[in-house]
Amino acid sequence: MQSVPRRRLRLILPLLLLSGLSVFALLPPDPAPPPTSEAEADSAVTPLPVLDEYGFAADAFRTVEARIRRNETFADLLVPHEVPYPTIVRAAEKARPVFDVRRHLRAGRPYRLYLDDSLGTARYLVYAQDAVNYVVFDLSDSVRVYARQRPVETVERTASGVITRSLYETLDEQGIDPALAIELSEIYAWQIDFYRIQKHDAFTVIYEERRIDGEPVGLGRIRAARFTHAGRDYLAFRFEQDGQADYFDEEGNSLRKAFLMSPVKYARISSRYNLRRFHPVQKRYKAHLGTDYAAPAGTPIRATGDGVVVEARYAKYNGNYVKIRHNGTYTTGYLHMSRIAKGIRPGVRVRQGDVIGYVGSTGLATGPHVCYRFWKNGRQVNHLREEFPSSEPVQARHRTAFETLRNTLLPRLEQAPLHYADAAPATAPAP
Ligand SMILES: [Zn+2]
Repeated sequence: MQSVPRRRLRLILPLLLLSGLSVFALLPPDPAPPPTSEAEADSAVTPLPVLDEYGFAADAFRTVEARIRRNETFADLLVPHEVPYPTIVRAAEKARPVFDVRRHLRAGRPYRLYLDDSLGTARYLVYAQDAVNYVVFDLSDSVRVYARQRPVETVERTASGVITRSLYETLDEQGIDPALAIELSEIYAWQIDFYRIQKHDAFTVIYEERRIDGEPVGLGRIRAARFTHAGRDYLAFRFEQDGQADYFDEEGNSLRKAFLMSPVKYARISSRYNLRRFHPVQKRYKAHLGTDYAAPAGTPIRATGDGVVVEARYAKYNGNYVKIRHNGTYTTGYLHMSRIAKGIRPGVRVRQGDVIGYVGSTGLATGPHVCYRFWKNGRQVNHLREEFPSSEPVQARHRTAFETLRNTLLPRLEQAPLHYADAAPATAPAP
């Protein structure tokens, strides 16, 4: 959770931004705790030289600070400071195991040169890969290159607010890393549809912030959260058992939900997911991106998980089919129905096990079956091969530890006051 991959950001940001609500009342986040002062030595010691953030004695050198410009090379950084060309070549070679200077120097990243005026040359170059990682090029006779990390401090914070536009904007306005919105949308993927955040939805989150020199550099873990959606509270507690962390509600039930293994009871698999299958009707090889379950015509087809119907119609090849979006990650499809169940149309919410249609052979099909399709992050996958995260509750032998954790965090979630600008409490909308 330390860093949110860009791809995920691209996928989720639009949905968080799109929800048409905004925040009108917020609480300031917890003040940062006072920095822990280093042990104050009472014995008389020689004062140590002041070290800069990279561990160099700040006043022993003259420093030059800059950012990598477009198309600037490693040599371009050093040549103006009288570093001999052979030294530059050796430094680049020695760096290769930790840092390829031809591929990894990025425009815009800061670097610092430590100049030794008595030698009239640069002694060290420090390149900051990101807020935490940096590379030191020691340009003395025995050229050395090493990768280092700045010490990261983890600070626990609490944030809360009432949403009137989007969660993303709420966090942004409070100066909180909006990536927290993405983490929350994943924790609650099965409980809350973040496309449908409502005015007066509210949240309280206890989370970790990673800091360097007091400056936030990213998110740590979310320890607990309370999300009030449509008048109902959804609690989440991060709990680790046997080295595996998951989120559980106040009763210790997993926030994840498992899929039903098959959309029809007592069916037989008649054709498996196969990237190269001889199609019985089209008489040619073509990928079969689903799993066929043969069953008598008219057998009820069930939604394999909670979700929202996104398609329910007839198409030439699919026949009568239904497509259900379960959350930001998973979507399922059910093809060749004899008919779609009453009331199943786009926008309708379904629960796991709800009958959404009946087995048939409409569209491109030889006999009665349901072709079950499964999308993960927009790509069709073989659901029988997928490893789903555990949806088991807290194990009996970890129960006491879980309850202790919950009892510590729950009051903190409940005590965080939520301010409403219009002084009216959130009311549950009519069902
Ligand atoms: Zn099929």
